[in-house]
Amino acid sequence: MQTVDSINFNNKRALVRVDFNVPFDKQFNITDDTRIKAALPTINKILNDGGSVVLMSHLGRPLKKLKDDGTVDIEKFSLKHVVDRLSFLLAKTVLFAPDCIDENSKHLSANLQNGQILLLENTRFHKGEEKGDEDFAAQLAYHGDVYINDAFGSAHRAHASTTIVAKHFAKENKCFGYLMAAEVANANKVLHNAAKPFTAILGGAKVSDKILIIENLLNIADNIIIGGGMAYTFFKAQGGEVGNSLVEADKLDLALDVLQRAKEKGVNILLPKDSVIADKFDNAANTQITINTAIPEGWMGLDIAHEAIQEFETTIMTSKTILWNGPMGVFEMDNFQNGTKSIAVAVAHATAEGAFSLVGGGDSVAAVNKFELAEKVSYVSTGGGALLEFFEGKTLPGVAALL
Ligand code: AMP
Repeated sequence: MQTVDSINFNNKRALVRVDFNVPFDKQFNITDDTRIKAALPTINKILNDGGSVVLMSHLGRPLKKLKDDGTVDIEKFSLKHVVDRLSFLLAKTVLFAPDCIDENSKHLSANLQNGQILLLENTRFHKGEEKGDEDFAAQLAYHGDVYINDAFGSAHRAHASTTIVAKHFAKENKCFGYLMAAEVANANKVLHNAAKPFTAILGGAKVSDKILIIENLLNIADNIIIGGGMAYTFFKAQGGEVGNSLVEADKLDLALDVLQRAKEKGVNILLPKDSVIADKFDNAANTQITINTAIPEGWMGLDIAHEAIQEFETTIMTSKTILWNGPMGVFEMDNFQNGTKSIAVAVAHATAEGAFSLVGGGDSVAAVNKFELAEKVSYVSTGGGALLEFFEGKTLPGVAALL
């Protein structure tokens, strides 16, 4: 794996795919600049070597979310709103090209001096981006002598700027940025080199979103903890009464099949013994605690309860490798956050005792941040969908393109 450390960028123009897909408020103020900060080490390495930087990224889905009159909402999806924050964080002027492949952008990048930074407009304003169009990718490639991908969150897409563009660079002229390299190294450590026992904790709403990852983990994990809404499909499949809890009726056979295969492979699947149930999907709902096979009609499980928490904690504390994706309940509501919080604390404790813990996938990352435990786990991944596909055992096109 070649990283930016393997290249001296002196007098070189580096084309860097970053992930500046950041959230904004209505006045286009950035509400969370984590993704911009994550790209700074790679940018600074190039500048410190004496090179120049051309940055490209997507922002939202401009061609799918058109204005009411059917036109593209340039203002809403423009990366120009990122320029000031990036300049501030780098303490340097950042130039901006209002299109990513037009003559003006090529003129700007061709005349870039060492030490300068140019940000190209949103690659997704062109339909060639998501199509992985060869000609569009060739035009993007014009902007750099070297290609760097530091956008792990987009590495599962074979888009022009994340994958196809890499064809235009010789092996020695393309590499992983620091963020991308860290993501791949940490995910590989869990997938291919996990110290045992290895426990995967999976939660969230739907079995269907997680089935491929469960199937792959059956080959490598010792324990798979299943919590959150997806657990109720497993109880229903085994003949339990789950009331109005979330169930995917068309996934019952699949759930039984997973349990059977786990048994055959000697993988310990832990389902929550009890739940905090509610009479409506509302923080102010009436609640009680029941075992998961006897949830009354009209009630729904919205969090794991004491017995489940205790059992899960015991398994987590004896693990040497932990992968966590998905909350244990509706943690966005204060009355149903206890299960997720307890599991986050247990993962932090196990980490303090020497386990390696990787937390990834949108909502579990939001959870460790909410409970201020992000610093207490080994690694928090920035790649939601990309990380899931990695653990499904798929080759990520954005990673393969650099090898
Ligand atoms: P996912 O994106 O599949 O990881 O799902 C995350 C979402 O699952 C969060 O918004 C949680 O509120 C939701 N969730 C977790 N547990 C439950 C549950 N028992 N019932 C309904 N939704 C849940």
